[in-house]
This record gives sequence, structure tokens and C-alpha cells, in this order.
Amino acid sequence: MTDGRAARVAILGAGPIGMEAALACIEAGFPFTLYEAADDVAGNLRSWGHVRLFTPWSMNVSERMLRHLPDGVVPLDRDEPPTGHELVERVLGPLARTSEVQEGLRTGVRVEAVSREGLLKHHEIGTGRRGEHAFRLLLRDSGDREWVERAEVVLDCTGTHDRPNPLGDGGIPAPGEAALGSRITRTIPDLERTREVWGGRTTLLVGAGHSAQTAARDLASLGEAAPGTHVLWAVRNEVPDWGAVPDDPLPTRAELARVARELADGGSPAVELLAGRVVDRVEEANGGIRAVLRGAGGSTESVTVDQVLSLTGSVGDDRLYRQLQVHECYATSGPMKLAAALLGSGGADCLDSVRQGPEMLQNPEPGFFVLGVKSYGRNNTFLLRVGWEQVTEVFGMLEA
Ligand SMILES: Cc1cc2nc3c(=O)[nH]c(=O)nc-3n(C[C@H](O)[C@H](O)[C@H](O)COP(=O)(O)OP(=O)(O)OC[C@H]3O[C@@H](n4cnc5c(N)ncnc54)[C@H](O)[C@@H]3O)c2cc1C
Repeated sequence: MTDGRAARVAILGAGPIGMEAALACIEAGFPFTLYEAADDVAGNLRSWGHVRLFTPWSMNVSERMLRHLPDGVVPLDRDEPPTGHELVERVLGPLARTSEVQEGLRTGVRVEAVSREGLLKHHEIGTGRRGEHAFRLLLRDSGDREWVERAEVVLDCTGTHDRPNPLGDGGIPAPGEAALGSRITRTIPDLERTREVWGGRTTLLVGAGHSAQTAARDLASLGEAAPGTHVLWAVRNEVPDWGAVPDDPLPTRAELARVARELADGGSPAVELLAGRVVDRVEEANGGIRAVLRGAGGSTESVTVDQVLSLTGSVGDDRLYRQLQVHECYATSGPMKLAAALLGSGGADCLDSVRQGPEMLQNPEPGFFVLGVKSYGRNNTFLLRVGWEQVTEVFGMLEA
């Protein structure tokens, strides 16, 4: 509270966690603005909407969401995990259309940068006076109009999806990668809708995580119907573990790891695993793409493909808060206190993620919080239910 009135909250990103934060504002009586860069809520989720989540409905809809949803919209009796599109259609879309959310929602508005009015990053270090200056948000709409709005609390829920990691070895772009631009696909393809792009062609798939496994599985299925579909699947490790969890309680995830192992062992004529390879460089070659791959001993080989599918993960955009005092972890790029707690937990499975405590979410910058999948930096164990807990913890602090 500031001077007896509720602080104005700016929520950046209307994904599942930004939406949860908006509902928390409504319940606690904080005026809020929920900014979403895409032209509708859950822009990131919709970009992989055809993919089925690992977690069942009951883990993807918060208690708070249930309180605000029009009756009977969510089939909570189903153990089946929803697809991303189903989660948007049945939960996030209906929530966005409620009058209480509509009042604060601004779609098609990207937050470009956040600062403190009248202060630079190195001003008022440790004096506690930064909180007396409003946050200043630079906004841009789809027509490139720019303006500034102010807030007393900022919740950065912008996710990581906008910033896919490069293709090249060591996490930096491979020479030639920038020049290939949009010829490199960086999202899990919806093969139902883009069959002609992938069927009967040769693809270099790079990455070993769940997204790459999903793409390999789907391309292998496509190969059964579309002769000539060929996937060269380059993964960094000689012996990938495919993120398999012993006695995995999430059947969808367990099944994906099983299929990945099967494909790696030659289970599909369409998929050829190139284990222990990194991408050294890429270039256009007679209408196709030539990639030079390097093996563990330094040996190189050249492959020529029709297209490249790079699914090497993503990390949140730290440029947003460059003028704020946010302490980031040197290893994971997540906010420091939370990152240290996560590193301390030794990479436990996401289902074992426990509440970390409200102080873990605090930054040297008062009133600024990074929440949701972005708060986990390079740690890939984030689950939606962790985000619900983060929102509860932050509002516990704001209401105190
Ligand atoms: C393929 C896949 C499967 C997953 N499966 C599961 C699962 O089964 N269970 C589970 O619990 N979790 C799962 N996750 C992890 C996680 O729950 C999701 O990534 C989830 O979308 C994170 O929610 P979020 O709100 O933090 O971020 P996002 O969903 O990424 O939302 C961020 C929002 O911010 C917007 N935005 C970005 N930048 C700006 C800006 N500058 N200004 C304004 N708006 C901006 C985006 O358009 C987006 O709508 C999965 C992730 C992926 C990628």
C-alpha cells in the first residue's frame, strides 16, 4: 500500500502466470494493467498450442482460476493432460473475457523496457529510496506507437519463449545462422497444418529436450505417411538420458522419453540420430542448407538438408529490466536468490519442486518481481503450479 491506497500493479505478459497475477490483483483490490504483446492472451502458449502438456487438467488450473471461471468450463474430471490450445480455449480465453479482467487487459501492447522515474540503475544503491520513484514502462503497440505508463509494482511474467537459444555450439549463433534467418524454424511444428513443409523432405533437428523429442516423434509418424521424410537428429551428448524420470508419475512425459529412446535406437526409418554432435556452422547451399557438425574428438562432417529445426531451449529477456537493480544468477540467468535455491536442490524433477518462500522472489529493486517460467532462467523444471504459488507469495508480501 502507498499512502493508504493500493499500489498500481503492472503485469507484463498475459500467459498463465500473468493471468493468475491479474486475478490476485482483483481479489486483493489492487488496480492493475495486464500487458500482452500478442494480439490475444497467452501468445506463447498458443504458439505451441497443438502440443499436449505433461500435467493433467487438475495441475494446470489454479484454485484462483476456478473461482473466476464461468461455471463448468473446465473438465476437471479428466486425467488426460490438455493441449495448449485446450488450455487457452477453456481457461485462459474465458478468464480474459470476464469483465473484471477486461478492465485491465491491454493486448497487442509490448513492454519494451522498465525503469524508475528519474533514476538510473546505479542510483540510490541500498538506500531504500528507489521505491519512492514510480516505475516507468515504455510501451509499443503493433502500429509502432510508443508511450509511457507508470506503476508502483511490476510483475515480469513475460516467459522465455520469445528468446530461443541459438543453434551453434556453446550456445552462441553458428557462423551463417543469422543469415539463414527464418529458414531456421524454432518452434515445435504443427504437422497437421504444415505437413507439406516437412513431409518428404530432409530436416536437421537440433536439441535433445522435450520439445525436440516431441518434434522427432511427430516427424517419425509423418514419415510413415509421407515417403522421403528424413530427419537427421543432432544431439550434444554421446548418450542422452532424454530427461527420463524413474517411475515417472506423469505418463505423457514417460511415454515421450520412451519413444525418444526407441527412435534413438533406430525405431523409425525416418529418423537418424547423430549423437555427440554440435553445430559448427551453417550456410545456404543450392537452395538447401549445408551444416557442418563437429563430434567429440573434433572430427567434422557436412550434411545437406532442406531445412533446420532448432529446438535448443530459451531464456527470458533481461533487456527489459536493464535499468533496474535485478540480481541475476551468473549460471542460470534467473533472479539470484531463487536460482541459488534451485541450484541447491540439485536439479530435482519438476514434480518435486517445492515452495521456495517469498523472500526468494525479492530483488534489490523494491516492488519488482520476475515470476513464472522466466524466474527459472535456464532451469527447465518450472511447472504452472509453481507459478500459482509464486503469485500467492508475492501478494502475501504486497498485502502485508
Ligand atoms: C512445449 C511445452 C510444454 C510444457 N508443458 C508443461 C506441462 O505439461 N505442465 C506445466 O506445468 N508446464 C509446462 N510447460 C512449462 C510452462 O508451464 C509453460 O512454459 C508456461 O507457458 C509458462 O507460463 P508463463 O505465464 O510463465 O509464461 P508464458 O506462457 O510464456 O507467457 C508469457 C506471456 O508474455 C507475453 N510477452 C512476452 N514478452 C512480452 C513483453 N515484452 N510485453 C508484453 N507481453 C509479453 C507472451 O506473449 C506470453 O503471452 C511447458 C512448456 C512448453 C514450452
